[in-house]
Order: sequence, then C-alpha cells, then structure tokens
Amino acid sequence: MKFKQSEKLYKKGLQHLVGAVNSPVRAFASVGGNPVFINKAKGSKIKDVDGNRYIDMVLSYGPMILGHRNKRVESAISKALKKGYSFGASTNAEIKLAKIVCDAFPGMDKVRFVNSGTEAVLSAIRLARAHTGCNKIVKFSGCYHGHMDAMLVAAGSGLATLSLPGSKGVPDEAVKNTLIAEYNNLESVKKHLDENKDVAAVILEPVTGNMGVVQPSDAFIQGLRTLTKERNVLLICDEVMTGFRSQFGGAQELLGIQADITCLGKVMGGGFPVGAYGASEEIMNNVAPLGGMYQAGTLSGNPIAMAAGISTLLELKKKNPYKNFEKTAAKIEKILLAAAEKYKVAITVNRFGSMINPFFAKEEITNFTDAQKCDTEKFSTFFWAMMNNGVFLPPSQFESWFLCTELTPTDIRNFSIAVDRAMEKVANQ
Ligand SMILES: *Cc1c(COP(=O)(O)O)cnc(C)c1O
Repeated sequence: MKFKQSEKLYKKGLQHLVGAVNSPVRAFASVGGNPVFINKAKGSKIKDVDGNRYIDMVLSYGPMILGHRNKRVESAISKALKKGYSFGASTNAEIKLAKIVCDAFPGMDKVRFVNSGTEAVLSAIRLARAHTGCNKIVKFSGCYHGHMDAMLVAAGSGLATLSLPGSKGVPDEAVKNTLIAEYNNLESVKKHLDENKDVAAVILEPVTGNMGVVQPSDAFIQGLRTLTKERNVLLICDEVMTGFRSQFGGAQELLGIQADITCLGKVMGGGFPVGAYGASEEIMNNVAPLGGMYQAGTLSGNPIAMAAGISTLLELKKKNPYKNFEKTAAKIEKILLAAAEKYKVAITVNRFGSMINPFFAKEEITNFTDAQKCDTEKFSTFFWAMMNNGVFLPPSQFESWFLCTELTPTDIRNFSIAVDRAMEKVANQ
C-alpha cells in the first residue's frame, strides 16, 4: 500500500496545523508513521487520498453507526440545508430530537443540546455542582470525559497514547476538586465518599471505550448506583460514546441502571457536532433560563446537526441493529482469538455491544492499570499490518473499535484475512 499523497498532505499540513491534525488522537504518534488523509467514505468503507480503500472501524470514533452517507440521513441534511444553516432561535427540530432522546433514557425528562461531548460533560458537572451545592467530583482513571481542565487527569486513551500523565496548562486549582478512583473497584469510591463530605457527583463511562473496552462488573455498577443514592451524590453516566450505540437507551439500558445526569454526543449527532446533557425535570430546572446555572451556545441545536441527529436515530430505531452487532462482535472476537492462538500471540479481547478491541496482554483487563500493561509495540505492528491489508483502525492500543450497520459478510471475510496476516507479523516481530 502506498501513502504518497497522504505524506504530501501531511508535510503541507504541518505548516499551519499543529501536527497536521485537529485532534491528537488522529496523529499516528504511538504507532509510528504519519497520519493518513481521507478523501471520502461510503457505507462501511473509507478511502484515503491515495485511493486506498479500507473497512472503516474508526467510524469517526463512534458516530457513524449507520456507516457513511446513509441515504435517509443524507436526504434529511439536504432538505434542512435548503431552509438555512443557523438562526439563533428555536426550531421544531430541537423539540423532535429532544423527545427521541428523552424517550430513550427513562431517567431523562429534559435535555439541553450543546456542540460536543466535552461541552456536555463540562455542563453536566456544573449542573451537578449547582444542584447539590457541593464541589468535588469522583472520576475513574482511564475514563475520558472531554478536554476541560477538571477532567484532564488520568484521562485514558489520548494522554495514555502520548504517555502524558495529565495536561500542561491545567492549574492545580482546576483539578483540586477531582478525586480519582479505580474502575471496577467500589471500595476506592467508598473511600473518597467517606473522606470527603463535599462530593457533588461520581462520573463514569458506564462501559469504557477510552482505555479500550472495559466492562463494569455487575457488582461494581449496581453497587455504585446504590452507594451514590445512599450518600446523596449524583451519578453522571458519560454516554457520549455508548449512547445509542450499546443499545438505543445506551449502556444504562443494558446494565439496568439509571443515571441522575446523562451525557450524550457522537452517534446522537450522526456525524455532526452535537452533544447533550439531560436529567430529571427537578435537576434540569437548575439550568438557565429556568434556574441560576448558566450555560449557552451560539450554534447549539444547529438545524443541520439536528436533522442529522433525528434521521440517524430514527434509522437506528427502525433497523434495531443491536442483536446483530452482538453477533458480529462475537464473530470478530472469534477471528481474533483464533489467529492469536494460531500464531501463539497473547491477547485478551474485550467487547460490549458494537464496541470491541483486543489487548496485547494475557491477563484480564478490568481497569486502567491492567490496560497499561499491554504490549503497545505489538499493537503498532498489528495496526500497520491491518492498514496495509485494508482495515482502518484507531491508531492506539487504548481505543475501542466500532461496528456499523453496513458491514457485509465480505467485509468480515476480508477482515479475517487481514487479522491472520497481521497476527503472523506480530508473531515474527
Ligand atoms: C468522545 C468522548 C467525549 C468527548 O466528546 P467530544 O465530542 O470529543 O468533545 C467525552 N466523553 C466520552 C466518554 C467520549 O467518548
């Protein structure tokens, strides 16, 4: 496979863009080599500027659950475009999307749309503080909640890939109210709640994607729900990645829990910049204009983004692909494990719904410490072999791969061939 045009654009991009990317996860820093530039995509395939075609398992880091350029979504966007791009006033589309979202999440009476997952989380945290009058937030190491100051500690994939403990430019004061607990370890949360009276909320990815896929044990997630209720601490489920992906009602539906505040993004915007936070009426009425918690956005509820969101969610509802995702993910797991066994490479595969990834480690991966024990060199070898055999993967050991509804049996066959070759490369590394 040749990457000539990508190399050219990369060099050109370096002049006026930082690292030639607009998000560090897109740089191929940890796997070596330079980022690939994309030209276009359709269905389950993505094509780079050199004309190389890949099965896309990045899917824009989750949003493109229907594959690229779904017909109904494309038509809804075109229709909306003809009416105008942004008005600075309310539209019917916002009401429609709000109803679809609130119907999907039983704990949610009202929702506020914003422009990204980061914005959703930072607003949710402000809301938790406004509602409880408390300041501290418990977060789990390895969970990523966007790039605002208070959440940029022990924040998973992006930082882990670049081996950064946190971010420069974040003052100590900004993270002094952030308490770090260990995923799948209820005692580590209990300890914080025992020692701190001033805790507003516990925030988590109900299933993680940002240290790779890690599932909560039943005891952990149910225990966390009970514990937070007992202590009058809000539970924030950051479902920016899992919302409408794990199930229509997010990971919460599959895990059988209800958060006090839910954060959404990615799939909900169908590829456009949309985020949301929602909760019960009582909690949401703290938000301006009804309450004293301020949060605003010039482009929030943008009509094109709303049209993309509504049509994506309606399509998803109609297709109801979740059982099928489960089957496909099981097949992919089998393919990975079989190849690993054939070439005697130690891997562990974690998956949940349409999120899956192998870790190059023998042991179970249940938290960030486990994830960090993986052999990232093996992953790099695997990654480039997969690219060269036509499978586009996130360039990091600590990211989930994503499935879309458009994957064909031929895609799975080609994926399987790529995995076999890649695993052989890893074994001979
Ligand atoms: C992607 C992600 C975010 C951040 O969303 P952006 O749209 O990139 O700001 C927050 N939380 C989780 C769990 C995510 O996966």
